[in-house]
Amino acid sequence: MLLDGKQVSQVVKTTLKTQTDELLQRGKRAPHLAAVLVGNDGASETYVANKVKSCAEIGFRSTLIRLDGDTSEQTLLEQIRILNMDEAIDGILVQLPLPKQISEQRIIEAISPAKDVDGFSPVSVGKLVQGLETFVPATPFGMMLLLEHYNIDTKGKHAVVIGRSNIVGRPMSILLSSNLPKGNCTVTICHSHTHNLAEICREADIIVAALGRPGFVTGDMVKEGAVVLDVGITRVKDDTAKSGFRLKGDVNFEEVSAKAAAITPVPGGVGPMTIVGLMKNTLDAYRRKLDT
Ligand code: NAP
Repeated sequence: MLLDGKQVSQVVKTTLKTQTDELLQRGKRAPHLAAVLVGNDGASETYVANKVKSCAEIGFRSTLIRLDGDTSEQTLLEQIRILNMDEAIDGILVQLPLPKQISEQRIIEAISPAKDVDGFSPVSVGKLVQGLETFVPATPFGMMLLLEHYNIDTKGKHAVVIGRSNIVGRPMSILLSSNLPKGNCTVTICHSHTHNLAEICREADIIVAALGRPGFVTGDMVKEGAVVLDVGITRVKDDTAKSGFRLKGDVNFEEVSAKAAAITPVPGGVGPMTIVGLMKNTLDAYRRKLDT
């Protein structure tokens, strides 16, 4: 079975649009997301453009703030301070990665926890770990929504998460191990120092591949009937494509789809679900603030 993130994200967007329309009919203002883009990295441009476009589709307001690649950390911190204070802004996202003169950690920590719709701040992560209401980072959130949509059985299953980044692997491992409708897994988290990774993967009922190595998970690493979520997005040079590149996941789709019970494609799997995770967080930020 194909876990069709493109299609499921449309379903979620339709629900979010209905909820936004209801707010507007009740005389409320629309939720408002502010996105900050520093520099002009091609992939970041695309991600931010998709987020802004999704806001428009749902009926959210969005403001895109573009800063030059040589912007200082101080200038960016000042911009965040302004957005934190702005009552009309519900959610703030700063597109990562940032240029090297800026500390990502300092920027993440400067965003008001009430507006941290990316869920990257230590406050949000701490709450996630303790099972408290918070903003779940968009990519793991999107994957949980996908598991819910397809009613994938996770209880008691062995999930192997490859990658331990703060934005994908680690939060996903926390969610899957939490006492949630699509959690309660026994989780193994793997990284670049893991020994016998292929063996560990072969024992997995669920594999989350989030390492950024195209085609890393091959057919021989997956047991029959496993559920495979491919987070990887790498631009691989391809002269036959109009853009000059092709997006490749961390999973060898051809080999693994022959064995997996369910698998996400790249593109059209986890990527679109990430955007709706962010949109849901923005609506939550708005609701928590305005108590509507
Ligand atoms: P990251 O910060 O670079 O982290 C990669 C992780 O993979 C690290 O924990 C690293 O281990 C581990 N790793 C690297 N090589 C490995 C190997 N050979 N064996 C085992 N583990 C290995 O990456 P990220 O930000 O989490 O992103 C991962 C991928 O997902 C990228 O392709 C990215 O573009 C994509 N992504 C997609 C979405 C989406 O919406 N679909 C969202 C975010 C990211 P160490 O910690 O030991 O270095």
